[in-house]
Parts: sequence; C-alpha cells; structure tokens
Amino acid sequence: MEDCIFCKIINKEIPAKIIYEDEYIVAFEDTNPQAPVHVLIIPKDHFSSLNDIPADKQKLLGHIVLKARKLAEKKGIKDKGYRIVLNTGKNSGQEVFHIHFHLLGGRQMTWPPG
Ligand code: 5GP
Ligand code: ZN
Repeated sequence: MEDCIFCKIINKEIPAKIIYEDEYIVAFEDTNPQAPVHVLIIPKDHFSSLNDIPADKQKLLGHIVLKARKLAEKKGIKDKGYRIVLNTGKNSGQEVFHIHFHLLGGRQMTWPPG
C-alpha cells in the first residue's frame, strides 16, 4: 500500500534491521525501543489494524504469535518473560496503521500499562 511506512520496509524501499522474514511476515527492530528487546512483527499483506483482519486469517495471527515466542527465545528473553502488544485504534496509542505486534522484553515490565 502506498504511503505505508511498514509496506515500504517490507518492499525494502526504506531500511530496517530485519531479524526474521518468511513468505507471510517480517520482524524488525523498533527504531525507538521501549525496552532492551523491542521487535515489531508484521504481516506482509497490508491490514490497518486488528479491526481490519478478516476472520479467515486465524492462521496468520497464530503464526505471528508463535514466531514472537521463537524470537523471544532467539533474543534470550523467553524464560525471564516478555510482553506482546497489539495496539488497535486511536485510544490504544496506535500510530502506524499497518497491523504490528510489539515483542518487548529484557527488563521488568509494569502493570497497568500507560
Ligand atoms: P504503535 O504506537 O503504532 O503501536 O507503534 C508503532 C511503532 O513503530 C513505534 O514503536 C515506533 O517506534 C515504530 N516505528 C515507527 N516508524 C518506524 C520505522 O520507520 N522503522 C521502525 N523500525 N520502527 C518504526
Ligand atoms: Zn502497510
């Protein structure tokens, strides 16, 4: 999709530190990390948010979550704990409207989130 920064990363039109890629998804380092580990995992197909994901995309969503676990392991934070965040819509603080899962870890998280 034109003018989507994450589609541009997928298409290698702008640089990103990509740490994983397959036919369906890309994972890359967040440029403004909120924790020692802060990775974004996105589908290659453009969907603005969870609200725009069709019901038949369960497999894609499951693939992303299980890959987040794998990347947590690769980053050495699986056993200590980590957080997966999926901001959806304005009130959540979503800023980039290409669905993305945050994988955060490497420090003690607090709750409730801001
Ligand atoms: P949101 O608030 O939409 O859930 O999160 C958007 C995230 O994307 C933020 O954590 C922000 O730092 C990250 N981000 C925004 N633009 C870029 C970019 O061009 N490259 C990378 N790697 N991350 C970005
Ligand atoms: Zn996009």
